[in-house]
Amino acid sequence: MRALRFRLFEMERLGSTSDLLRAMAARGAPEGTVVVAAEQEEGRGRLGRLWSSPRGGLWLSLLLRPPGTLPPERLSSLAPALGLAVLEAVEPWSGGHRLGLKWPNDLVAEEEGAWRKLAGVLCEAFPGGANGRSAAAVIAGIGINADFERERLPAELQSQATTLRRLAGGPVDLGELRRRLLAALERTWELWQQGGFAVLREAWLARAVWLGQAVELRGAPLRAEGAEERVVGGTFLGVDDEAALLLRLPGGRVERLLAGELSLRLGAQGGGSEADIPQ
Ligand code: ADP
Repeated sequence: MRALRFRLFEMERLGSTSDLLRAMAARGAPEGTVVVAAEQEEGRGRLGRLWSSPRGGLWLSLLLRPPGTLPPERLSSLAPALGLAVLEAVEPWSGGHRLGLKWPNDLVAEEEGAWRKLAGVLCEAFPGGANGRSAAAVIAGIGINADFERERLPAELQSQATTLRRLAGGPVDLGELRRRLLAALERTWELWQQGGFAVLREAWLARAVWLGQAVELRGAPLRAEGAEERVVGGTFLGVDDEAALLLRLPGGRVERLLAGELSLRLGAQGGGSEADIPQ
């Protein structure tokens, strides 16, 4: 395992930092290559959803080259792990608001009694180069709503989103935020390579939102037969060493769900925490 050596490529305006980095990775770019854009026109969330990326945000993608093969089960724990790094990095600008991790890949902040989305992590894996010389690549795309007003986001997102500028009640030094983020990503990447998500699990759970509450998961789970949309409701018990979500179904059985395409929501009845679940 090597320490990350960052090589930064700063761009003005891009389609997506992950798309450019993917092209660079295919040509053999080394681990630690980072693409940053002041603005993205086609920033992506999961499942091809658009990630709105106005000027003032921190939009970057980092190239990682994990040794050996990376089965999907392992890869699905990387985004939650890196989410913890993002949380640590933004903490100085939280303005006293609580920050939380929404399984699997979102960072949220508490405002007016609700959790609002502040940042997201998207990890995409690509096989090694055809000549066998370059290792497989993972592109970790990170978007942080940093130094801009929430009103810059599309109207339909505003009520569910927030920005660091809004939380902090003043400007955010993007350079300082980027330094903190890269340092936190480096530490987390080292830990994850050494011990997997298992070594970060306790810290992750300490910041998890809706733990012990009634939640709903929508989408197609990673290992499901077919890809039809599925909705499962139950009590959010926690995550295991692979960052799979543990859900107690109404009948009492515990189901283990890998992130796949699942989206977590608070249950329709608004939750109700269980006394036996430590918060
Ligand atoms: P989910 O949280 O539903 O699982 P994703 O993690 O894939 O979804 O994130 C994509 C979604 O996030 C988009 O469909 C949109 O609703 C929302 N979104 C897009 N851009 C932003 C942004 N800058 N800040 C907060 N939320 C955003």
